[in-house]
Amino acid sequence: MKFDLFLVNCQKLILIDGGVQKLKKVFDCCVIGGGVVGAAIFNKVVRVGKSCLLLDKASDVATGASKANSGIVHAGYDPEPNTLKAKLNVRGNALFPSLCERLNVPLLRCGALVVGDDESKIQALQQRAKQNGVVAQVWDRQQILQKVPNIADNITTALYAPSSAVVSPYYLTISLVDEAILNGGVVSLEEDLLSVTKQENMFEIKTKKSVFYAKQIVNSAGAGFNEVSKIIGTEKHKLVFRRGEYFVFDKTSDLDVPLTIFPLPTEIGKGVLVTPTIDGNHLVGPTSEESDTKTVVTQQGLASIKNKAAMSVKNINFKQAIREFSGIRCICGDDFVIEKSKKVSGVVNLAGICSPGLTSAPAIAEMVVNLLGFKPEEKKSLKLLPKYTLFKDMRKSEQREAIKRDERYGQIVCKCEKITKGDVVAALNRPLQIHSVDGVKRRTNAGMGRCQGGFCFTKVVRAICDERGLEYEKVLKENRGSEVAKGDLRKI
Ligand SMILES: Cc1cc2nc3c(=O)[nH]c(=O)nc-3n(C[C@H](O)[C@H](O)[C@H](O)COP(=O)(O)OP(=O)(O)OC[C@H]3O[C@@H](n4cnc5c(N)ncnc54)[C@H](O)[C@@H]3O)c2cc1C
Repeated sequence: MKFDLFLVNCQKLILIDGGVQKLKKVFDCCVIGGGVVGAAIFNKVVRVGKSCLLLDKASDVATGASKANSGIVHAGYDPEPNTLKAKLNVRGNALFPSLCERLNVPLLRCGALVVGDDESKIQALQQRAKQNGVVAQVWDRQQILQKVPNIADNITTALYAPSSAVVSPYYLTISLVDEAILNGGVVSLEEDLLSVTKQENMFEIKTKKSVFYAKQIVNSAGAGFNEVSKIIGTEKHKLVFRRGEYFVFDKTSDLDVPLTIFPLPTEIGKGVLVTPTIDGNHLVGPTSEESDTKTVVTQQGLASIKNKAAMSVKNINFKQAIREFSGIRCICGDDFVIEKSKKVSGVVNLAGICSPGLTSAPAIAEMVVNLLGFKPEEKKSLKLLPKYTLFKDMRKSEQREAIKRDERYGQIVCKCEKITKGDVVAALNRPLQIHSVDGVKRRTNAGMGRCQGGFCFTKVVRAICDERGLEYEKVLKENRGSEVAKGDLRKI
């Protein structure tokens, strides 16, 4: 089974001679948490030539806040000037185009409009944009109507930020991790942290299945930050969780909104937005309710989205929504906490990385590399991640070649998104080996269309079984404990 081999390879670095003689592989750094922030740090540490281990308790990367957010690469007009949020947002936004180009991650610079009926508030926001070094123009209703014919009747003015963009947050995370693995980074998933002890100049990191050694540790565990801090013996921070619920629209919906529309921001966030996604459909949301860490959707939350969205865009037909989901913001006061631990030297804490954390991730990685004391210059001979082009996006001649090379490119698995078995197999053979249906979904979009997996779910499960040599009941929907079936459904 390839998944096992991958993990065994990690262990081989530590145990040699069948475990009799212990040879320690000591990593320069261990990042705990494979969300977009941990992935960006892992990627950067490897690129500056240091050895790095990424640990996550989940069965894939990007299963926390990084899989369930708005996917906006914010321009940076909104955060309070001179905060970490403001600085890292603006720097992160500037880094995105080259990062996405290098990783072949689609990025749509569609721009954003903050709409309202009070010009003084819009002008105040423009002033803040200026302080943060962000270009933004004030528009009148006529200019807004040219872009968004269905703008609500009460909207008279807007701030237009051309550098705002949309991206797939999970595809970016996966690509950051895959590129780092190609360049020598090591990932171990499904790791339950048991203890971390400091021994002279290194940490011994014990998990339920392995022991690792690293000179420094980065706690980037998002909602799990305090749980990890407790094990390491580092600072705890007061975290507040706020759930954000969304509607996902069908690609064929009548929503005619080519850029992100925000209402004026409030104390608790950027409000309910209407935005195109990188996949050609739309998201409407999120709510912002204090909550626990459960990603549920609620009747109240979804009803409030309908009311609030109507204040920006009129006549949204919510019958064309195909899915609802929620993500959990992890908030720690007014700013990001990114600090060297004062309690245990050699540990960097990242707490409360809420919005604009996705946008800031590449800039946070630069900052953390600096806190770790590594030189920022990247290695010269780094490998490039191959371009994983889906069959539907290939030119006709490439499609013919692909089918000739591998007939599975001729077998449609997901009818809605036109994903072939060849695409699924290619996704399973990316550097980070996963064996979950949702992992395949995040890499190919299989299951994201109108039928939401009704047609392709079992086909993807079978593809995973075939490719991994796995029994049917070992395939996961998402994480450990979410096995898709008991017994082999192929035998009924
Ligand atoms: C509703 C919503 C909308 C948002 N919209 C935007 C937006 O449009 N633009 C933007 O810039 N930002 C946005 N954000 C913020 C952005 O999503 C986050 O800042 C970002 O995803 C945080 O990434 P992370 O890596 O810190 O955390 P996460 O993605 O949560 O990753 C943490 C990881 O740590 C792992 N972990 C936890 N505990 C442990 C443990 N004990 N051991 C090992 N691993 C552990 C988890 O499995 C997980 O993989 C939004 C957030 C939400 C919730």
